[in-house]
Amino acid sequence: MTLQTIGIIGAGTMGNGIAQVCATHGLDVVMVDINDAALHKGLATITASLERLLKKEKLTAAERDAALARIRTSTNYDDLKGAQLVIEAATENLELKIKILRQLDALLAPEVIVATNTSSISITQLAAVTGRADRFIGMHFFNPVPLMALVEIIRGLQTSDATHDTVRDLALKLGKTPITVKNSPGFVVNRILVPMINEAFFVLAEGLASPEDIDAGMKLGCNHPIGPLALADMIGLDVCLAVMNVYFAEFNDSKYRPCPLLKEMVAAGYLGRKTGRGVYTYA
Ligand code: NAD
Repeated sequence: MTLQTIGIIGAGTMGNGIAQVCATHGLDVVMVDINDAALHKGLATITASLERLLKKEKLTAAERDAALARIRTSTNYDDLKGAQLVIEAATENLELKIKILRQLDALLAPEVIVATNTSSISITQLAAVTGRADRFIGMHFFNPVPLMALVEIIRGLQTSDATHDTVRDLALKLGKTPITVKNSPGFVVNRILVPMINEAFFVLAEGLASPEDIDAGMKLGCNHPIGPLALADMIGLDVCLAVMNVYFAEFNDSKYRPCPLLKEMVAAGYLGRKTGRGVYTYA
């Protein structure tokens, strides 16, 4: 199937990034959100991002204009009818996603593929609420979408080979590097990343080294661009804790137990950069 028009649900951080990348790679986009304010904000983010690329000479003015002309916005799901593939990138909430997917399923032609950008909800579970489980898949982009090269392609239990291959080809067309992953909590990247961060809190709690030395150790010893504790502050300690709680519950394995220090810091409201204090203090 040739993909020319991509529907995107949600104009937030991820939705507008996905829309931008589709449009700059020659695809028509219909971006849907619940109100005009969200759509305006999403479109303004795309415009500013394209402007930065223009300044860096990664894009010409004509390419910017062509990309913007390919993006239509709407608050009406009916405008998704011409799309060959729809990517759901709405707020991370199970009930909301189920509602959206049922709505899409009733509206879209049977051959249309539906992908979700969820970070934490089971692809198999979401597929099961649609009447097109074989044409349902996870397409997990990373933030910021225009800059991050990776897309995790997550196969639910029911995803067909044809759906997988179509979505993999799309990721390549968008200039991304896809990796194929079976459905499981955290997929690949977050499954490894968040327990590593949790372990850094254990190392800190045991007094093995200072936060600065733990971060310097991982930066210089593993070539990571940022240390795990500084990264936790960026992600949000509450988000890290919530993810560990999901792994602990889902795998029922003590190796995923959240570090008591992480729990205590979240209880204190030390959530990281967003509260001005996490492992480090911010002005
Ligand atoms: P966000 O809050 O920035 O944007 C979500 C958007 O969805 C909002 O504009 C909201 O108005 C819209 N929305 C809510 N209900 C809707 C509906 N019924 N129909 C259409 N739009 C609706 O969230 P985000 O950070 O862009 O996350 C979106 C998805 O991407 C989530 O599933 C999240 O887990 C996933 N994700 C996020 C990141 C990240 O770093 N932010 C990374 C990878 C994946």
